Formats: sequence, structure tokens, C-alpha cells
Amino acid sequence: MELRGITKVFSNNKSAKTTALDDVTLTVEPGEVIGIIGYSGAGKSTLVRLINGLDSPTSGSLLLNGTDIVGMLESKLRKLRSNIGMIFQQFNLFQSRTAAGNVEYPLEVAKMDKAARKARVQEMLEFVGLGDKGKNYPEQLSGGQKQRVGIARALATNPTLLLADEATSALDPETTHEVLELLRKVNRELGITIVVITHEMEVVRSIADKVAVMESGKVVEFGSVYEVFSNPQTQVAQRFVATALRNTPDQVESEDLLSHEGRLFTIDLTETSGFFAATARAAEKGAFVNIVHGGVTTLQRQSFGKMTVRLTGDPLAIEEFFHSLSLTTTIKEITR
Ligand code: ADP
Repeated sequence: MELRGITKVFSNNKSAKTTALDDVTLTVEPGEVIGIIGYSGAGKSTLVRLINGLDSPTSGSLLLNGTDIVGMLESKLRKLRSNIGMIFQQFNLFQSRTAAGNVEYPLEVAKMDKAARKARVQEMLEFVGLGDKGKNYPEQLSGGQKQRVGIARALATNPTLLLADEATSALDPETTHEVLELLRKVNRELGITIVVITHEMEVVRSIADKVAVMESGKVVEFGSVYEVFSNPQTQVAQRFVATALRNTPDQVESEDLLSHEGRLFTIDLTETSGFFAATARAAEKGAFVNIVHGGVTTLQRQSFGKMTVRLTGDPLAIEEFFHSLSLTTTIKEITR
């Protein structure tokens, strides 16, 4: 899927115009999982509606499997749309149909014959781990199970792209984790491209290969999850990363830490940061290092993290610690 210079302007009346999407360019490679993250109002829902053809952009082009869908006739669009499966925050299941009936629905629309439908429904329910729940109605299923039915339904017609719109936002953390595991399985075993729309960086971190950060209708940052997490460039990306990693003290924690003696530094840890050597040198010269906050994690098979330390003792040795580390990594002093 490729978005080229997509702009969407809403004009509710003559004077007020809202640019919901502003020159969005983005390529999603086949088989990739991409996270699109942004706060409320960033333009995510508008983007979803354009991708699934429910609305069209003011300008720009949107290529699905190489075909530009902008301005396409409804009859043709319907065919392309069947290549996109979609899951939603509120699951959007038919309450009057059983789990199996929900999964069967798109197959009926596609006019598959009955025997083939029944077989496909059972296959999909088993794939999502609900092989024995086909006869249950949505109200007899937990939130996580409902979303599994949603996933089975979205995949029943063999789409190449799965669009997940805040699909875990209504679920508790444990269930979120299970549903994300299932989406990972969908991607790995079926090779389906997944676009995950979310406002939670934790979701991006646990499932995506790449992430696009949106703000005011623009993609302000785009890269591999590792790149964006280890070195976010924009303030909005930094805020999202901080919520998922929690490895730097927030305002309240910083104030608490500053109420004690010594100087505080936050250091980016990498394999070449030279932290331990600097700590040893500082100790020899009469400055002592205490770890007071931090966290190291792995993403896409690479480790990185941040650590906040308090240095006490000889002022010159502290200064030297700061200078030597600023040559090999990023080190920032926390001050009032
Ligand atoms: P998000 O999904 O990231 O919260 P939206 O795509 O819903 O963001 O909204 C992006 C911007 O576009 C917001 O300023 C919103 O008010 C505006 N917007 C969205 N839909 C419409 C519409 N139908 N008419 C006018 N403005 C809209």
C-alpha cells in the first residue's frame, strides 16, 4: 500500500476548514506490520476511512496492490475493498448472529457455497483459538474472544491487508497482549500485511516493524520501531516513547530525586556507551555513582535503554565523568 501526498480538507461551511491530513506520504511493504500512532485529532480515523475507501482525499493518490483507488468507481472499489480486512475497537459484531454466523457473513456476501462456507468458518475459528465457541453469541463471549471473532471474520475472505483500528483499546492489558499475539501469528503464518492504528505506543512496540507518528494531519516521524524508540526526533514521538518505556524519571520523580544531594544525569545506554569505565574512573577520583532510575529493553533484537544516576563526592571527578561520557553517548543533567 502506498500513500502519495494525501491531503484531506473538511469544509463544514464557507469559513471553517480543517486539514485532517496534510501531504501524507507513506509506503507499507507487503508482509509488514506498521503502526500508525497519534493523539486524538491527529488524523488517524480520517486515514482509515480513506484506506478502506469510505471517503476520498482532497488530493494525492492511494495505491492498493499497485492500483490508485482515488476516484475509482464504486463497483471496482468494492472488489479492491474485499482485499482489506478490518477490525474495530468495539468489535462491531452482529449481536443476532453466533460467532460462526459472524465469521460466515462476509462469505455469504462473497457468494461462497454453503459447504465451503461452513468449512472455512470452522478453519478460521480454530485459527483464532475459538474452535469450540462457534455457537456462542457475542454477549456470551469475553472482550478478547469477541475481538478474535472479529479477526476471524476479517480474515475469512483471504484479504492481503488487515486494518486494525484501535483494536485493543477497549481491552485490559492481559487481553490486549493475547490479541496482539494473535495478530503477530496472522502476520507470520498467513503473511498478511497489518496496519495498526493506535494511540498506545506499547501496542506499536509489541507488534510493529515500522511506525509512523502523526501529529496535526502530518506524518512527523517514520522509521523502524527500533530507530524511533531508541532515538525519537520529535517532541510528540519522545512523549509516546516515554509512555512505553518509562525509563526516564517524570516531573514528579525528578523533583523527588533532586531533593537529595549530588548531581543527576540521564545516560543513554548502548554497547559502546562506556558507562562502566567512566564509573570506575570516577570512583578512583573520589566521586560515587548510584543508579536511581532506568530501564533497558530489547527491540528488534537490539538492546538499548536509559539510566539515571546520582553522583556525589569530588566535584571535579563528577565533571570529568560527565565530560567523558558526553564523548561516547548522550548524557543529560537533570536540573531544577
Ligand atoms: P484521530 O482519529 O487521530 O483522532 P481524526 O481523523 O478523527 O483524528 O480527525 C482529524 C481532524 O479532522 C480533527 O481536527 C477533526 O476534528 C477533523 N475532522 C474529522 N472528521 C471530520 C469531518 N467529517 N468534518 C470536519 N472535520 C473533521
